Amino acid sequence: MRSVVTGAAGFIGSHLCEHLLSCGDEVLGIDALTDYYAPARKRRNLARLLGRDGFTFRRGDLLELPLKPLFADTDAVYHLAGQPGVRGSWGPEFTVYLERNVLVTQRVLEAVRDAGPRRLVFASSSSVYGDAESYPTPESVAPRPVSPYGVTKLASEQLCETYRTVFGVPAVSLRLFSVYGPRQRPDMAFARLVEAACTHRPFPLYGDGGQSRDFTYVGDVVTAMRSAALSSWTGVANLGGGSEVTMNQVIALLDELAAEVDVVSGPALPGDARRTAADITLARDAFGYRPGTDIRSGLAAMVRAERVLRRSRPEGFAAPTGGPRPLHRSQA
Ligand code: NAD
Repeated sequence: MRSVVTGAAGFIGSHLCEHLLSCGDEVLGIDALTDYYAPARKRRNLARLLGRDGFTFRRGDLLELPLKPLFADTDAVYHLAGQPGVRGSWGPEFTVYLERNVLVTQRVLEAVRDAGPRRLVFASSSSVYGDAESYPTPESVAPRPVSPYGVTKLASEQLCETYRTVFGVPAVSLRLFSVYGPRQRPDMAFARLVEAACTHRPFPLYGDGGQSRDFTYVGDVVTAMRSAALSSWTGVANLGGGSEVTMNQVIALLDELAAEVDVVSGPALPGDARRTAADITLARDAFGYRPGTDIRSGLAAMVRAERVLRRSRPEGFAAPTGGPRPLHRSQA
């Protein structure tokens, strides 16, 4: 298969490229290397891919690149580029979320419509549910996002559905539930927790630790994305890890796997749902999705990767301090 991966230098995108290459696919990766978190991390992700047979990379902003020629003669477009993070999406930064999530997705859809790949796989989010009406949550439950980020992911997903029903664009939107694994974004809870455990620094916990998530291992996510691209199914499906775990349980597990974590409790932050849990029946029936990595093995893999990284860590790996900054066009 010939594939395009947007957001190829990011956490999930770089894992997806590795997986596709290991399956023998040709991959064109696209990324602007935005500075929401240290671009040095993204360059490091890319370094694992550059020079591998079948991989090419184009740096640029999807709001400006000529997409149709980039998507020509492609079997699958995996659209993962976007502005993640619920907490930074309030206030003036919302413009960046609108641009990088909604406007970019609309440009991708127009180009897919013209270029005609066999499949478009879009990385949607469990954030579209907000505080859901029922758990585990099936796709039929009405989305009620509790963050502006969730609103932009829902709008992007709805655009995919609109282009699918009106123009027959073969779009699959996968609602990803809290993806974790080595190279996770540094603003996410597991990355901060593992770093705190390995450095013996305090871990700021937002809320009482009773909030729960359906954590999903990145290896299971990227395998599912390719399976979805190969299947004839289109539509919207949940991708969860198959079990719901509280933050307190994750912290206890990390105490066992690495070191006791010094937890500093603070108030819950606006935008965080209390609970997420995916009903994954649809993904299982549609493209054979079966998550295979339990939380203990996945977290242990993160601890191992963090220890390796700490032995060779270059400067410039700081976690993001605030919301996203607008992309400077000259950097793209
Ligand atoms: P990430 O920030 O590591 O990766 C996103 C990449 O997109 C970055 O490398 C960034 O430079 C690139 N990008 C952003 N705007 C761009 C633009 N305009 N043009 C070109 N490149 C651009 O994030 P991630 O955690 O890997 O998430 C990937 C996708 O999955 C995102 O769309 C996110 O909303 C979605 N998602 C992630 C999770 C999760 O748990 N990580 C959960 C649900 C959904």
